[in-house]
Amino acid sequence: MSAELKIALAGNPNSGKTTLFNALTGSRQHVGNYPGVTVEKKEGVYRLEDKKINIVDLPGTYSLTAYSEEEVVARDFLIFEKPQIIVNIIDAANLQRNLYLTTQFFELGIPVIIALNMIDAARDRGIEIKADRLAEFLGVPVVPIIARTGFGTQKLMEEAARQAARKKEWHPKPISYGEDLDSTLLDLEEKISAGNFLTMYPSRWAAIKYLENDQQIISRGRAENGALSAELEKKVAAVSQHLLETMETYPEAMVADHRYGYIKGILQKGVISHKYDQDRLYTSDRIDKVLTNRFLGPLFMAVVLFGLYTFTFTYSELPVSWLETLFGQISLVVEQVLPDGPLKSLIISGIIDGVGGVLGFVPLIMFMFFGIAILEDSGYLARVAFMLDRIFRVFGLNGSSVMAYILSGGIAGGCAVPGVMATRTLRSPKERMATLLTAPFMNCGAKLPVLALFIGAFFSENKAHYMFFFTILSWLVALVLAKLLRVTVLRGESTPFVLELPPYRFPTLKGLLIHTWEKTWQYIKKAGTVILGISIIIWAMMTYPGLSESEKGKFALQRQEVEAAYPAMVVAGGNMALSEAEATERSRLLDSIDRAEANATLRYSVAGRVGIALERVSFLAGFDWRTNIALIGGVAAKEVILSTLGTAYSLGGDDQEKNGSLAEILASDPGWNPVKALSVLLFISYYAPCFVTVVCITREAGSWKWGAFSMVFNTLFAFVLAVLVYQIGSLLF
Ligand code: GDP
Ligand code: MG
Repeated sequence: MSAELKIALAGNPNSGKTTLFNALTGSRQHVGNYPGVTVEKKEGVYRLEDKKINIVDLPGTYSLTAYSEEEVVARDFLIFEKPQIIVNIIDAANLQRNLYLTTQFFELGIPVIIALNMIDAARDRGIEIKADRLAEFLGVPVVPIIARTGFGTQKLMEEAARQAARKKEWHPKPISYGEDLDSTLLDLEEKISAGNFLTMYPSRWAAIKYLENDQQIISRGRAENGALSAELEKKVAAVSQHLLETMETYPEAMVADHRYGYIKGILQKGVISHKYDQDRLYTSDRIDKVLTNRFLGPLFMAVVLFGLYTFTFTYSELPVSWLETLFGQISLVVEQVLPDGPLKSLIISGIIDGVGGVLGFVPLIMFMFFGIAILEDSGYLARVAFMLDRIFRVFGLNGSSVMAYILSGGIAGGCAVPGVMATRTLRSPKERMATLLTAPFMNCGAKLPVLALFIGAFFSENKAHYMFFFTILSWLVALVLAKLLRVTVLRGESTPFVLELPPYRFPTLKGLLIHTWEKTWQYIKKAGTVILGISIIIWAMMTYPGLSESEKGKFALQRQEVEAAYPAMVVAGGNMALSEAEATERSRLLDSIDRAEANATLRYSVAGRVGIALERVSFLAGFDWRTNIALIGGVAAKEVILSTLGTAYSLGGDDQEKNGSLAEILASDPGWNPVKALSVLLFISYYAPCFVTVVCITREAGSWKWGAFSMVFNTLFAFVLAVLVYQIGSLLF
């Protein structure tokens, strides 16, 4: 018997897959991407006595069609990696819907065992499931578990190992799809196996996919044997026509109906018993009566969001200031230890001020993610989408767009990349385009610290109010622009939308901590890699080419003059030859020469020249050249705005004392004021998406034109908005 097993964990979204995977593998897991796509791949190891069980967490899916990338990834993995067994995790409280995916594993023929999860939650709702009966009818082992507490998980793994060790062949389980389809299916199957066609798939499965009009399989078939594929397609077309005439339906719909029929048939054999009356309201339903109520719902939602921001800003303030002090101290040490020169400048201005500025916000990010994890894990976030569906329709979108917005940072701290990808669930191409083009307007995790910086520096009285305001504003802007797109370039019908409301759950502390940490770690990792790289490049652009020798000479001369005017005889204990006032004056003058030189160097640098050139336009919105440099950097990644401002103000601080955090420096800089800060903030919120997002939009939209469109359109829009705010604001205040 082999000591190594390969197991795939599969199930619907929200069935508790992540919880089980974490419980089984603990710290022995790693995360990557499936080759060629950005779908996350999680792998981990479970030890069962002497056996090592490798577990792969497949993306959560409802089905194995080719409608979404997740589904394609999941089934390609099963077919090409051939795990010895699938552990199919099922939410006991939603047995019927969850078993739909199971039927498709049966069709594939891969050995399955079922982890019947959340039996505690099901019991609370009065649902009792007889696992042994279910196992009997399905013909596969069923192990009841509570992933959250670990109940039954060891038994599950033992059973999985036992089943996997039997080295079963794949045996597709034939489900009947009705007379017409069944006979066609047999016909197709025969032709497929006789023609040695698509041999990587079980032949019956390939036949079903042809019936379901599965584009991935059909195009593979065409590439392999065009003539045979055409023959199969012709047979499918014939039976489709026949179905349309006789039953007014399509093969895919027929197949789905029969899968559900198969499940219903099993469930009615005494597998489930409901303890309570069917019409009795479940706890979740009762909670929903209030929380999604037409009037109380939105009110409650506003309170929750506002509470989230208050919580985040209030509790993160102290740790954020600790980190600021820490980075300040590190700078000070480097300042004293290293000799003046490019290396010192690189370390202090490029690395510590750049990356430190980004890392300084880690506590804030953590608190925000923790709050969002509570909303997500409890099931409240799904209610938010549900309530907003009604509003979204007005703007030509639908409830599926809400999730894309939320993922992009609609509440705060998401990322437009998964947001843009989440639009795949939208079936209507026009709605989808409108959603993916507007999702980047949300306050992603990278904009968050930038917002926090400016709010902290200029609107520190009411931080939570401003955060709330900027969030609502982002939604408004996104919706209005979506509407604009939907009545112009993306005009078209809207599609109906059904949203499931999973029951409310008490989040576990462990789950919350893991979710918080996963996202925080991504933020930290990005700061240590991408942001570090860009910071160094931008530092170089802000440092080189240095001033010419003659320019440097001028500053040296000024220094000599000061030194001549205040001759200092240095002895141990201070400048003995000068009075205290003279000594202070001397160092003040020398400092200001240093700063003037640094400022001249920055202006003369590559980045400085670009920033200055842009001032000709950007002055309309109140942006000075240093801000311009930061905004250009922000197109690479929004965090860079922060790191670049940090570097710019540390390299070329004008006249003011250059100590204190960046927020303090900006707040005390005479060149800055709340109106200008607001104008910059609005610009940052809405201008061109970061580079990665543009690439993602291009890929999802299938054309670089949409990627370019989002850059140009967003930047123009943001600029016009910033100019209006700055000009009007400057008149008023
Ligand atoms: P996934 O999206 O499929 O990975 O599901 P998760 O692991 O994120 O679980 C979704 C929610 O179900 C989380 O809030 C879990 O805490 C909760 N959950 C998972 N397993 C159980 C369980 O056995 N009982 C109960 N009551 N809740 C569970
Ligand atoms: Mg999960």
